[in-house]
Amino acid sequence: MALCKICFQDIAKGSLVPGYGEASRMVHEECLAAVALKIAEDPGKEGLLRYLIEYEEKHAPHDWSKDVSGQSTDVSWEWTDVGITATRIRSLLNAGLVSIVFSTNSSTYYSLIGRAVIKEALGRREELSIVPAAKLDIPDSLFVCIIGYNDLKDEIRFTLREGRKSHYLLIGPPATAKSLFLLELGRLSGTFPATGSRVSGAGLTDAFLNYQPKILLLDEIDKIPMDATAVLLSVMETGDVLETKYKRHR
Ligand SMILES: [Zn+2]
Repeated sequence: MALCKICFQDIAKGSLVPGYGEASRMVHEECLAAVALKIAEDPGKEGLLRYLIEYEEKHAPHDWSKDVSGQSTDVSWEWTDVGITATRIRSLLNAGLVSIVFSTNSSTYYSLIGRAVIKEALGRREELSIVPAAKLDIPDSLFVCIIGYNDLKDEIRFTLREGRKSHYLLIGPPATAKSLFLLELGRLSGTFPATGSRVSGAGLTDAFLNYQPKILLLDEIDKIPMDATAVLLSVMETGDVLETKYKRHR
């Protein structure tokens, strides 16, 4: 049974990992894309990937590489070909984006794994980054039904208008307008309301991945279970939601 070399789950179809030993090794395209996106968060590595993609596209197809790799790649290069030190290549090798096609005592030939998949993932990243931080349409009447708390209202309005990534925790005794703030914010588009005692980690992950809310409104946050806390912390820290399930990685 074949296993994906990234998530180690069953694989029937995916990108071939070039190599002279076992040309049958494969990775899921979505696993590869996820790794590429992660690595490309480092601008230096993103530049390196783009450079290698361009190099390979210019030099493919290369018959010798096709032959030695059992047709698992159409091009290969040594560090001296691309002018990049072996140490820098090794970071991509360790990440699982580059594979060794062939090596002898004196030379090592590398190739990108699933060049088209990596290229597509980087393209998607570019699309995401050129979309300007969507500014929310904030009605003038927002919060007018709440008396007082002008400093808090101004603060939240400012954050919304600027589209900043922020987290607010409203603490106070009952009947101090905490839920009213949530209700008012719930009028904005792209919000997702939830109640602490009724959420689970899996449910929250689903909500993030399926609805991609701009704003999560969580009432009774003190009642959320531990697994939901873990999801929240990850989102708050990095903005990422990852789900790895049998045959599924999102
Ligand atoms: Zn996989």
